[in-house]
Amino acid sequence: MENSQVRVRFAPSPTGPLHIGGVRTALYNYLFAKKSGGTFILRIEDTDQNRYVEGAEQYIIDSLEWLGLHTDEGPVKGGDYGPYRQSERKHLYAQYAEQLVEKGHAYYAFDSSEDLAQMRADQEAKGVHSAKYDHSTRSLMKNSLTLSGAELEEMMQNSPDKVIRLKIPRDEQVSATDMVREDVSFSTNELDDKVILKADGMPTYHLANIVDDHLMQISHVIRGEEWLSSTAHHILMYQFLGWDAPVFTHLPLLLKPSGKGKLSKRDGAKFGFPVFPMEWDAGEEVYAGFKEEGFDPAALLNFLVLLGWNPGNDQELMSLSEMIDLFSLNKIVKSGASFDIDKAVWFNQQYIMSYDIPYLREKIRDFFPEELFNATAEDFMAKVITMMKPRAEKYGDFYKQGSYFFAAPSEYDMKQVSKRFNEEVDGQLNQIREVMLNSDFESEALSNSVKGYLNENSLKMGVYLPLLRIMMCGSMTGPDLFELMDALGKEEVMGRYDKALEAFKQS
Ligand code: GLU
Repeated sequence: MENSQVRVRFAPSPTGPLHIGGVRTALYNYLFAKKSGGTFILRIEDTDQNRYVEGAEQYIIDSLEWLGLHTDEGPVKGGDYGPYRQSERKHLYAQYAEQLVEKGHAYYAFDSSEDLAQMRADQEAKGVHSAKYDHSTRSLMKNSLTLSGAELEEMMQNSPDKVIRLKIPRDEQVSATDMVREDVSFSTNELDDKVILKADGMPTYHLANIVDDHLMQISHVIRGEEWLSSTAHHILMYQFLGWDAPVFTHLPLLLKPSGKGKLSKRDGAKFGFPVFPMEWDAGEEVYAGFKEEGFDPAALLNFLVLLGWNPGNDQELMSLSEMIDLFSLNKIVKSGASFDIDKAVWFNQQYIMSYDIPYLREKIRDFFPEELFNATAEDFMAKVITMMKPRAEKYGDFYKQGSYFFAAPSEYDMKQVSKRFNEEVDGQLNQIREVMLNSDFESEALSNSVKGYLNENSLKMGVYLPLLRIMMCGSMTGPDLFELMDALGKEEVMGRYDKALEAFKQS
């Protein structure tokens, strides 16, 4: 196939927030399209009104936008193959189901839900487990294959349960070329006569999906492994309609951190990490999002791309354009990939380390109280960023862990203080105060003055430096002490010094 003809689609159903596995599917489609000079399409599969969730489509669009996975065609972007929402294409589907009936590959069925339940119970009584509407049972049911004449006419006119079912042939093998699994083959005897057009005239997923893939000239279908079992039905429909089927690629599952079982939307809350790109407010429950948790979108994509694919060597860090260069469908692996949040955090840290100050300044803005951010001088913020950068795992850490840059600590780690503080130390701290007051207030000079004083008087660094740090930060963690003091400035440092010394004495 000519590269320029590559057309792939990401086809989510707006039934809730986009799961992180869906993001990976979108990413692989995007990478394959860009690598091949092809077209990346967003199609919203919203024919199932019962499962439609308000806001989910917008969520999908916003998430792709945040991640930088820009679509070439879709409901917002438009394109020559629209509309790109299946609900706006309703009128298109029935004719293909009817064509299948005319060709003898589908039939009308009129069974009520009670009829279907009865059939299952009858089969069960005969020892057939998980009975299906298929070649062995269709002759027992109410459909256009078993009824005729006036009775059929009456059902066609008045049955509230009228659907169209696919007539799956017996004793045939359906094979598909799957880029990951190579050749997959299904016996038609295992397949049920799936409903393709529902009683309300709407298509099921299966019909709408293949009709749209055909009409939108989709060349490759790249989707989650959970759709592998539907592929035989899809291929049969392509054959019956005389259409070429696209090339299929089914992506391995994303697994729980333990490697056991599929990562579910509930796992986020269970394991304390997000499984959605952005926060999703479900009313009674709010699901955390990578964006709001302070993840960088490029880092998240880098983490995701390696869950199910690798470039064939051990390179881990890659920008989106490098991913495009390196990507190929035949390096997608078959086995599921476990979701290791520590690895996601590692990628995030690497990306934070690689960004320059102006870029980071914009990225951390949303994680600060707005007023504080706006009131902070740019050069001071630059110092905060420089010092916090090696320590931050997520964008929120710059403020959360660096709050001492913006306000004196309101409490101190008294456990650590009491291990070190006594009358003699108190006396020395008053001396050190004088040393600092007389020092040049610049990090190196301050460090030399304080450490010089400690050395000359044979005082222990391990006693005094932690105390000075607690005075400034409240706890023993933080960036280089003297650089921090330099950034805070003399007045602020000495104010904190005095306030802390008072508190230490009270203890
Ligand atoms: N609408 C399906 C989904 O929600 C699409 C599956 C496919 O890509 O064919 O995942």
